[in-house]
Amino acid sequence: MEKKGILIVISGFSGAGKGTLVKALIKKYHNYALSVSMTTRKPREGERDGVEYFFTDTEGFEETIRQGGLIEYAQYCGNYYGTPKDYVERQLQAGNNVILEIEIQGALKIKEKFPESLLIFVTPPGAEELKRRLVSRGTESEEVIAKRLARASEESEGIEAYDYIVVNDDLGTCVEEVHQLVEASRRAPVRREAFIEEIRNQLKAFAKGAE
Ligand code: 5GP
Repeated sequence: MEKKGILIVISGFSGAGKGTLVKALIKKYHNYALSVSMTTRKPREGERDGVEYFFTDTEGFEETIRQGGLIEYAQYCGNYYGTPKDYVERQLQAGNNVILEIEIQGALKIKEKFPESLLIFVTPPGAEELKRRLVSRGTESEEVIAKRLARASEESEGIEAYDYIVVNDDLGTCVEEVHQLVEASRRAPVRREAFIEEIRNQLKAFAKGAE
């Protein structure tokens, strides 16, 4: 198996359970690394700097953009969010699969820059369930929930850009499904170039011997 890890983008409507899914995946399997994004959003209760996000202000964020420190960034509901470059590159080189939990504009930029990346869209079984999850999470005001639902409607128009869609109904099943997609994509020829080259050369040597 070639060493370089897979860049995995996980997107989904706010409230789809992406965060829980990603945590469960990392806990169960050990060849995943989660990229911690930078944001100008204010921390929610319990969120720690450097763990859930690197929290910064607009000035700090724009400075990081200028320095070329982000692989991608986007604005979402009035805040900046972006993926720091160094960590992702280091983890991929070390052979780990790197997960980016990002929204759709960022996902599309990643696909453009890294065509071999794997894009997975996570959704709850239906819109009613999405609303229920957002409300019961209790971390956002009614106004923010309404904004996020409106954004979900816009995002639903872009689902076809993803490689796979996974319905998050039962968490355990969802974790397995995502892991299997990652494992399957490790077997794509584009990730086995060294192997292909080697077997081609061996076969050429046989073919020569038979001439
Ligand atoms: P939240 O405020 O709920 O933590 O995140 C809002 C949205 O921003 C989510 O859809 C989340 O996936 C997305 N997001 C988080 N980090 C990044 C990032 O680095 N880049 C982009 N493009 N989106 C992000």
